[in-house]
Amino acid sequence: MTLVKEDCVLEDETGTAEIHIWDELINNVKNGTTYEFQNLNVKHFKGSTHLATTPATTFKEASKQLKSVQGPTLLENPEKEVKVDMFKFLNNLSIFVACQACKRKITESAHQKYIKCRNCGVRQRQGECKRDASVQVKVEIAGKEIWLTAFTKEIESLLALSPELSLMSDSESIEDHLMDLKDIHFTYNVNKNTITQVTSLSNGLAQ
Ligand SMILES: [Zn+2]
Repeated sequence: MTLVKEDCVLEDETGTAEIHIWDELINNVKNGTTYEFQNLNVKHFKGSTHLATTPATTFKEASKQLKSVQGPTLLENPEKEVKVDMFKFLNNLSIFVACQACKRKITESAHQKYIKCRNCGVRQRQGECKRDASVQVKVEIAGKEIWLTAFTKEIESLLALSPELSLMSDSESIEDHLMDLKDIHFTYNVNKNTITQVTSLSNGLAQ
């Protein structure tokens, strides 16, 4: 049996979400039409919501029309390049250590030399484990304050001016460094509110 999948964008008054539509449903739904869907599979991943139809999904055309749909503009490049003076707030800096054996998350255990994975039981050197991180930053863009999320690669770019800092450093030092940053140029995804690339920055010391 061949399964066919199409990636679409759903929009309602609360925002937008990507939806994977499977099989015969693809031919039954039309662009620009309003539907009520039931029994969708919902996943949250890297700050955005992903929906998918399942064999149990039903839908019917709805009479309600959205007043201000963004429509096809949602499919245009969602990346926007901006410059902000600084990060106003930081929130939820989380650093995860990944087990080298089973790749599952290990809860960070201070600065122990060896750590043991609770999932597979493997003891390993903490310094050799890959680290992933995420943080939320509040920035002002075009007079509006918004929260954006940055992930591992972009956080590492934000730490580039301080060679002594890395994701191995303690959260306090990383947060202090992020608050010190000035003139931050970056691109972000306007639909997902995630920072996608850091272009340039200054630490406010080199004046
Ligand atoms: Zn493990």
